[in-house]
Amino acid sequence: MANIAFIGLGNMGGPMAANLVKAGHKVTAFDLVAASRDQAKADGAAIAETSVASVKGADVVVTMLPAGKHVLSVWNEVIPAMAKGTLIIDCSTIDVESAKQAHALAAKSGALSVDAPVSGGTGGAKGVTLTFMCGGEEKAFAAAKPVLENMGKKLVHCGGAGAGQAAKICNNMILGISMIGVGEAFALAEKLGLSHQALFDVASTSSGQCWALTSYCPVPGPVPASPANNGYKPGFASNLMVKDLTLAQDAANAAGAVTPLGKHAQELYKAFDAAGHGGVDFSGIIQHVRSLAGK
Ligand code: NAD
Repeated sequence: MANIAFIGLGNMGGPMAANLVKAGHKVTAFDLVAASRDQAKADGAAIAETSVASVKGADVVVTMLPAGKHVLSVWNEVIPAMAKGTLIIDCSTIDVESAKQAHALAAKSGALSVDAPVSGGTGGAKGVTLTFMCGGEEKAFAAAKPVLENMGKKLVHCGGAGAGQAAKICNNMILGISMIGVGEAFALAEKLGLSHQALFDVASTSSGQCWALTSYCPVPGPVPASPANNGYKPGFASNLMVKDLTLAQDAANAAGAVTPLGKHAQELYKAFDAAGHGGVDFSGIIQHVRSLAGK
């Protein structure tokens, strides 16, 4: 079992660190927020006074932070305090450029590094069912595997530095676009007098089939476990979808790719967020689509 430093104990990082403790690792945790540190202590982690103190004696360092600037700031602080050859893994969702810079910082100090953003949300973090999309050298991925396996059920090595982040934002761009497409189809069906169930029964077994429809249906009824049946409680909040679609647009602009539907999806989610619905599950975008009819 490894000595693991875990930095960033929020909605995702808290339960992920707890699962590492449950798997038998010695976890030393740090977060800026006292309540998160207290919860990690209750979950069995040792608590460090600072992020730098948390990495003392660590074989592996994991970060789970809001955005690229936080990851670069923490990695800049902790890497000089890590023993040579230590593995550092970032599980946050951040921009590809910052992820590459973070890998470069690690390489300069002789550390192994992996970008490993996740899908599966807070339920996946608690239930050890996350998917990790990993970028980094083969040797670093091989070292990260046994640790990540204690926090999730599926690992994909997507390529070199930043490839995990690239995979994450491309996947979530598909999801953002397809959820709007499914919402539009139901909104049109309502106007045409077609029942939700009839559209679902046809599209779920026809060429309109997709995850947004069959696993996360944005109207109540056809998929009982979808947030639509629970007042659109997240799930995956719309403001996080805005974040991921913005990362996709930034990456597209930097790489010279043109993603017109990704751009439009970002605009629609931003409008939904600006109307005060940022905390609503992203499948609630159907409400925004319906509201456009009256304008
Ligand atoms: P969160 O805001 O709940 O947690 C982030 C934590 O980082 C906070 O507790 C904060 O205090 C801490 N932090 C910030 N700066 C720090 C620093 N310098 N040192 C130590 N701690 C610091 O966010 P979250 O929901 O846990 O998400 C974390 C990451 O995972 C984000 O990048 C998010 O986009 C991604 N993600 C979230 C979900 C989700 O459903 N919540 C799903 C997939 C991916």
